[in-house]
Amino acid sequence: MISVRDDLAELEGYHSPQVTVDVRLNTNESPYPPPAAWREAFLEELATVPFHRYPDRGAGALRTAIGELHGVGPEQVLAGNGSNEVIQALCLAYGGPGRSVAVFEPTYALHSHIPRITGTGVAAGERGDDFTLDPTEVARVVGEAQPAITFLCSPNNPTGVIDGPEVIEAALAAAPGLVVVDEAYGQFTSTSALSLVADDRPLVVTRTFSKTWSMAACRLGYLIAPAGIVAGAERAVLPYHLDAATQIAGRLALRFTAEMEARVTSLVAERERLAGALAALPVDTWPSGANFVLFRPRNVDGPTVWKGLVERSVLVRDCSSWPRLEGCLRVTVGTPAEDDAFLSALREVLA
Ligand SMILES: *Cc1c(COP(=O)(O)O)cnc(C)c1O
Repeated sequence: MISVRDDLAELEGYHSPQVTVDVRLNTNESPYPPPAAWREAFLEELATVPFHRYPDRGAGALRTAIGELHGVGPEQVLAGNGSNEVIQALCLAYGGPGRSVAVFEPTYALHSHIPRITGTGVAAGERGDDFTLDPTEVARVVGEAQPAITFLCSPNNPTGVIDGPEVIEAALAAAPGLVVVDEAYGQFTSTSALSLVADDRPLVVTRTFSKTWSMAACRLGYLIAPAGIVAGAERAVLPYHLDAATQIAGRLALRFTAEMEARVTSLVAERERLAGALAALPVDTWPSGANFVLFRPRNVDGPTVWKGLVERSVLVRDCSSWPRLEGCLRVTVGTPAEDDAFLSALREVLA
């Protein structure tokens, strides 16, 4: 029997354990569903879909609506099955054998996992002790590796740290290829690289409907970039990759931007309450610009805390085996009741 490619055989899969618990705070989803009015509009339009026909291959209406949200034309938008598919399209089109990407650890595992799946090399730089990214380190790594794609992530997953404009400028100044800023959590903070996207800059910003839009079940993400870069990435997506239901779901979601912003505002307030409560416990935390908080228990090791929480029906992300994150766990901001359940379970585990 044939075995998989040698380089894939060495690669571990990407998994977040899905354990059945009452309180799930492990994958940074929204604790709130999208508005009931969105669901009604979606189901109504779904009933009119000609299901025997392929969907709109170019996802024109959806791309136009996303473009309007950001003040750009549809030719500057590429939508996919989650922003992960968009990142995969970038790696297939601009990476591949003989090419590399640059990432800065600790960061989102898929920024190196997806390149590896596509046969692209990975050069890893380091964030500082406080997990901020030094522009000099960006210039050093990018200068040495000459990557086809440089990945930044702001706010960064799993640290929550925001990269300042000087980091993006340093990457753009040094990079021979694309600079991709992953803004999966972009709406949770006031800084964004979106306004820097311009025809004469190889800058790409990715966003997702999975977090702030409360639509993780739909698998929808997109990138904003100069039209030429979008056209290049589009060469690597499969025909009709984005199904009709997802296109409708995303287009209709954009009618409820105010509701999304209200959910984000309340989650940011709840994040500050959660961070404040954690600060009173024997754990180290890092300031977060996203909908999660990274923390490191001082006296109990990470896996023990993770297991103790699961025994109390609370699931968080155990990051303790990730590069540079010994002993760390990441908790997603939930509803106030979920966060209280997490906090009281954590107090018991640490006692
Ligand atoms: C959650 C997350 C995504 C979202 O991926 P989707 O495929 O859109 O669900 C992308 N980037 C980062 C950094 C994330 O944390």
